[in-house]
Amino acid sequence: MTVRRDRQRARRLLRLPVLGVAAAALVLTGAGTGIASAHTPATATAPTAGRYGVYPMGIRSTPPSTLAANDLVFHGGEVAIHPHIYLVFWGTQWQSDTTGAHDYIKHFYEGLGQTGDNWSRVTSQYHGSNGSPAFSGTVLTVSWTDLSGPAPANATSGQIAAEAQKAFKLFNGTAGPSSDVIVVSPHGTHPDGFPNGGFCAWHSETNHIPYTNMPYVSDAGSSCAANSVSGPLDGFSVVSGHEYLEAVTDPYPDSGWVDSTGAENADKCVGINLHSIKLPTGSFAVQPTWSNQTHACAG
Ligand SMILES: [Zn+2]
Repeated sequence: MTVRRDRQRARRLLRLPVLGVAAAALVLTGAGTGIASAHTPATATAPTAGRYGVYPMGIRSTPPSTLAANDLVFHGGEVAIHPHIYLVFWGTQWQSDTTGAHDYIKHFYEGLGQTGDNWSRVTSQYHGSNGSPAFSGTVLTVSWTDLSGPAPANATSGQIAAEAQKAFKLFNGTAGPSSDVIVVSPHGTHPDGFPNGGFCAWHSETNHIPYTNMPYVSDAGSSCAANSVSGPLDGFSVVSGHEYLEAVTDPYPDSGWVDSTGAENADKCVGINLHSIKLPTGSFAVQPTWSNQTHACAG
């Protein structure tokens, strides 16, 4: 993907067997000049957390042939074998949100993992060092609105990671690959530069806790999948669902399942065949995800 890469990402790439000379050069460049990497925009300071599995802005209608030609490759790490979602609605701004976004997102994760969710179960084929993803009920562990104060207008990636850690501690989470703290920012805010950073959302890890920066994507309209299937809230499930599936198969990027171009499972099918899935809690817009079994987008 043509996404910004930071120093942490470059270090991670260094450990991968697919490492090329270019990646090594990036690290050297960073060490010599103090610039994080050649891919980091000049205006950005080195972030404290990575941006992996970015959901890029804009919707495309056909799969990128270079991605579709390659199956995902296992890089030796752990996967989420029993996905547990910690849903955090960040800030007092949520008190005045009447769009239904809160309930839509909450019901999406309440429904995922339950019987009939064949979409999440596409990931069960991806065995990690600790087992395979299995689903035996809702993946939603807790949904919490943090009303301790307003979410920052321009949260840095470090502040987002801190919010994820705060929620995880509050609910006594045990850090591991099966957890994913999804920090949903409120309307009108710009977490990590959204919507001008070229992404709709991203996932990463902080202190071994997988987490997701989930902006208020309807603020970006159709660029982040609003009205792509059935309504203005579509992007909340399309985009967060993309990051959710990636955090299942690659909770500690890029130690899980990633293809030779650096794409995770959902990256390979982004914006393709957006459709609705029916869960016990309602119908929700999603994108498909990559299946090595069929060498195609599935779910
Ligand atoms: Zn992605």
